[in-house]
Amino acid sequence: MKTFYSVRMRAASGGRHVSGQERIVTEDLLEETILELHRRPKGEWDFQSIKVEKLSSPPEVVERSLPLKDHRFSCVPLAHSFVSALFEEKLGIDRSLVRRWLAKLTSGVGPGGQNLPGALLVDPQTGEVLNGGNPVRTILFDWLDRPRVKRLLLQRGFTERTLDALALATKNALCGVEAELCVSDDPDYTTGYAASPELGYLRVAPMKEKKSPFGGRVYFVRKENARRVVECLRKRAVLIGEPNL
Ligand code: AMP
Repeated sequence: MKTFYSVRMRAASGGRHVSGQERIVTEDLLEETILELHRRPKGEWDFQSIKVEKLSSPPEVVERSLPLKDHRFSCVPLAHSFVSALFEEKLGIDRSLVRRWLAKLTSGVGPGGQNLPGALLVDPQTGEVLNGGNPVRTILFDWLDRPRVKRLLLQRGFTERTLDALALATKNALCGVEAELCVSDDPDYTTGYAASPELGYLRVAPMKEKKSPFGGRVYFVRKENARRVVECLRKRAVLIGEPNL
């Protein structure tokens, strides 16, 4: 039986997050993966951590990702209206709750307007934030054949960000996240996404204004399911076979 490793990198500058990436690889790819992730951050950093963890059992393989769709709008308010209306109509999540969170994500969701290092869990029925001071990170996910899926996505005009985010959102759906909102915190990247098992992965542009440094993720999860979902996000290792294009 093959041995698998999780390799996770994060880099920061002056205490601010600069870059983060993760892979699940077999032993033969371990060294080159560590080097690849070490070289990964494009910006300056003064701190980098690379964590390698041997998985106690092989990751679960999921055949296909969430289906990927692209939605483009002429301005941010139209994009937010589209997402909030869709969440209400298809998922039964109150549109004003979705609008409020989209507004927060695009204007600094953390204390003092800072970005958070992970996602907030929000109960879709009550609007309660379930993990206030403790943002959750989805880890232990990758593509079965990352180079091939990357080629496929780039050929179709998508970016490497989509490669990572589609894998992450697919794992979230598998773990029981009912719906998700994501706004990148990169000031040069205004495309975001909304995802759910019913809606798939909807790439939405523009989700925020150009040059805005704000971003974040909200996972809609019912309070009674939160503990189980977080356990899965942190512990279950998942490899995804094909992108659903
Ligand atoms: P990014 O898409 O990398 O620009 O990240 C946007 C925001 O999503 C970040 O500011 C974090 O709040 C959050 N985030 C990034 N990576 C993760 C992760 N692995 N799990 C949960 N939230 C994340």
